[in-house]
Amino acid sequence: TETLLEVNHLVTEFRTANGSVQAVRDVSFKVDQGETLCIVGESGCGKSITSLSVIGLLPSNGSVTSGEIKYEGKQIHNLSFEEMRKMRGSKISMIFQEPMTALNPVLTIGYQLREPLMLHQGIGKAEANRKGIELLQQVGIPYPERRMKQYPHELSGGMRQRVMIAIALACRPGLLIADEPTTALDVTIQAQILDLINDLKEQLNMGVVLITHDMGVVAEVADRVMVMYAGKKVEEGTVEEIFNAPKHPYTIGLLNSVPNVDNPEFELEPIPGSLPTLTEKIEGCRFHPRCKFATDRCRMDAPPEFKVEGDHTVSCWLMDEEKMEEKEEELDGH
Ligand code: SF4
Ligand code: MG
Repeated sequence: TETLLEVNHLVTEFRTANGSVQAVRDVSFKVDQGETLCIVGESGCGKSITSLSVIGLLPSNGSVTSGEIKYEGKQIHNLSFEEMRKMRGSKISMIFQEPMTALNPVLTIGYQLREPLMLHQGIGKAEANRKGIELLQQVGIPYPERRMKQYPHELSGGMRQRVMIAIALACRPGLLIADEPTTALDVTIQAQILDLINDLKEQLNMGVVLITHDMGVVAEVADRVMVMYAGKKVEEGTVEEIFNAPKHPYTIGLLNSVPNVDNPEFELEPIPGSLPTLTEKIEGCRFHPRCKFATDRCRMDAPPEFKVEGDHTVSCWLMDEEKMEEKEEELDGH
């Protein structure tokens, strides 16, 4: 497999009336062909900003101030606006939570599908129309010819999200970034859209970055998981590692707040407290105000990234203690 996206030590800052604030703090990750990386965390943790940094669509007061972003080994964080626009049309596509706002209400579905095809593939209207119909079929939309002539408001939320995916796929992107793509949809439709993203990933060997706050969604689609908290990556591993052997107290908290369908009596254990604001100053581990394991060291020094096993990494001082205990056991001859 080939690495599609490589993000190294990304820092993204916003200029505000009170100076600069960091929304993404030294975050690194990779996405391979044919794999889905889920970025998970509470709303405001920096997961959307991370993906907007990658795709060059930060709001005007935001910018990548350090680190690098590479697509197929080529630096892309310093591309011009025009070069980045081309990149988005051909290599990296993004879908968002609310397809109603991303689709243009006064243009037909057909127009919105043909336009990127004609622009990026240099094909004529008739061929673009034919390809548009094919794409609608591919994302499971019945009567595609008829849908081409309709306007977004004539479609259900689930159908609109399928149209958005069709538009995102129009130029055969290597990488699809999906930011909460199913949050606005009801549960059955949500499952269908996640299945669709999974199928397309396999058929087209795409890399997928899926951003969500929902561990249920993660369980459904992720190959690997990156957990973010307050602008930092706190844990990363395969979906099995994260679900079967979570290490960071925040990850464990997220998993405990997933409703258990098999046991409706199961009590939700949400993580007490809330995410700090961007301007709040926190020394040491950024999770310490909410962590029941916090020690003085946590309050003073930010934990480094500890390797647990394979590519499973955790930024928490508890890992240091675990390592120490293992060493002591070894020394004791156990
Ligand atoms: Fe909790 Fe300390 Fe680990 Fe932070 S470093 S998550 S405060 S135990
Ligand atoms: Mg978001």
